[in-house]
Amino acid sequence: MSWEDYVRKVVPYVPGEQPQKKVIKLNTNECPYPPAPKVQEIIDKFNYDTLRLYPDPEAGALVSAISDYYNVPKDQVFVGVGSDDVLSMSFLTFFNSDKPILFPDITYSFYDVWAELYHIPYKQMPLDDEFRIKKEDYYTPSGGIIFPNPNAPTGVFEDISEIEDIIEHNPDVVVIIDEAYIDFGGKSVLPLIDKYENLLVVQTFSKSRAMAGMRIGYAFGSKKLIGYLQDAKFSFNSYTMNRPSIEAGAASVQDKEYFEATVKKIIATRERTKKALKDLGFTFPDSMSNFIFAKHEKYSGDELFEMLKQKGIYVRHWNKDRISDYLRITIGTDDEMDELIKVLGEYIK
Ligand SMILES: *Cc1c(COP(=O)(O)O)cnc(C)c1O
Repeated sequence: MSWEDYVRKVVPYVPGEQPQKKVIKLNTNECPYPPAPKVQEIIDKFNYDTLRLYPDPEAGALVSAISDYYNVPKDQVFVGVGSDDVLSMSFLTFFNSDKPILFPDITYSFYDVWAELYHIPYKQMPLDDEFRIKKEDYYTPSGGIIFPNPNAPTGVFEDISEIEDIIEHNPDVVVIIDEAYIDFGGKSVLPLIDKYENLLVVQTFSKSRAMAGMRIGYAFGSKKLIGYLQDAKFSFNSYTMNRPSIEAGAASVQDKEYFEATVKKIIATRERTKKALKDLGFTFPDSMSNFIFAKHEKYSGDELFEMLKQKGIYVRHWNKDRISDYLRITIGTDDEMDELIKVLGEYIK
């Protein structure tokens, strides 16, 4: 035997590229607009001397701001270093059964990585031909359930009633709904946390709040569920949220008008982009997120991905079963989308 036999081995998640040169960056679903002006104010006047001191382990100011905005008691709010941290902590805390956890075959590609990392058995349930969840697939005994709504990378939004049906069929396990893109026109299942003690709703500042670089994620659930998450967190790392994140995050939530205006702009650009892509011969499931998952009838995903990259436009592409002909295109500014459409139009003609 060698020490390597005792290493926890895992094939890591591969994030979208963060190119150092200037490109049109439509590959990681970031917001094309800056964070709220209140965030800038906080950063500008941040007292750097306070960095000597550990931050508030409860991230109280941030939890309070989220609690006020969403009208959920503070003991039902959990915060972490991006929703990736919140989700990973949730896998560790809630998925400890011998039965497999369930999630769609086409979904956020971090789920199988965490399952592998924590040695959690899992089973991927195929979406139907329109990339919709078949709810009956989730009526089976399992170790837990997780999926994003709207789903990534498809952008498909499932109605609350569909999700509630799945939760109703699974009172014995934790059901996690990853709402990273919920602000772009979907309807959150947040009101259901009062009805289902086993429902965890996870959201993030990275997309709709334009703060991917700050790393803030949060979750809502019953007091009991959040309590278990806190226990795991405090057994892992007491100080997950740094001082600037706590302050800037709270400021962002308080700037409701800016947030709503930004989201509205992105939705308008998305709807314009849908029409333009359709005119070029692309097809895609209707998206309720800040990206469009599109394929062309005549060109392979690989070919279009490489062509766009050559032209300095980065989108996301996976060489995976069922989705290799698709490009996931983040909604940027109107100018960025005009450039994308122009480049695609020239190539396709
Ligand atoms: C972007 C994303 C996340 C994670 O975002 P963070 O930046 O870690 O908050 C989680 N789930 C889905 C489906 C995402 O697309």
